[in-house]
Amino acid sequence: MQIDQQKCVACSNCIPICPMGAIYIDPAVNRATVNLDECVECFTCHRGMSKEHLNPTVVRTIRGFLKLLRIRFDPEPDVCPTDALTPQELTWPRIVRRAFSDPLVPHESTGVHGRGTEEVKTNDVTDRVKEGEAGFTIEFGRPGVGVRFRDVQQMTMALAALPITFEPKNPVFALMADPATGALRADILNEKVLSAIVELKTPLTHVPGVLRVVEAIAPTLDTIVAIGVATRCDAQGDNGLEPVLKREGYTFYRGKTNLGLGRRPAAASA
Ligand code: SF4
Ligand code: SF4
Repeated sequence: MQIDQQKCVACSNCIPICPMGAIYIDPAVNRATVNLDECVECFTCHRGMSKEHLNPTVVRTIRGFLKLLRIRFDPEPDVCPTDALTPQELTWPRIVRRAFSDPLVPHESTGVHGRGTEEVKTNDVTDRVKEGEAGFTIEFGRPGVGVRFRDVQQMTMALAALPITFEPKNPVFALMADPATGALRADILNEKVLSAIVELKTPLTHVPGVLRVVEAIAPTLDTIVAIGVATRCDAQGDNGLEPVLKREGYTFYRGKTNLGLGRRPAAASA
């Protein structure tokens, strides 16, 4: 995202809209500017603001004149008065930022909107996580924080040393140069996104190992990490995950329960 310096009248309306704090008024030129290193190409500023097409020179003149009279003249807070926010043609590797940060853009590698797959929400249909297994979602970043792929890679490389399987339909998997080592493509490591989700599964016996690796690596990263874990219940509704998590010192909650009303495909139920 860029801001047309000829059009911008430095009203500051776009600054609080940006979830990454990437827009600032450059005092040297008195225009809004995007810090492109921090911008994750989420398009919130461009899509979230109404646009007027006022003449920038006229707006600047009126604002300057009224300022002399100690009167502020500001446009409505959700409006860019001169349509100055200008999306750029994104090329590789920068295009990865938008794929992981703009929920309205389908990810090219999966066709799934957003940052992960539908994972356990549809497990009764996909049967990805079977009885005796645990499925993990490890989420990096949040609005206002973001994450660079080099931090994601630190985690994926540590996890790859365990007996785990990364989910191949996950968007981060599509960026792996070597799933066996967890290494991501070198050319995307500096790209920053709003958030990214790594999905994997492992036998229940290895749940403590995954939790300990995540606990050890997360504090070393320049982002925040949230972890979710799921399993398939047996015919009685019991599961082997609960005692494992309790032994590891976690308070156990059933955050979401899928009742199994989805119809499993013949291949999965065979
Ligand atoms: S809202 Fe538009 S005119 Fe106002 S500072 Fe942002 S880009 Fe400039
Ligand atoms: S595209 Fe998103 S991150 Fe970039 S300047 Fe606009 S709101 Fe901020």
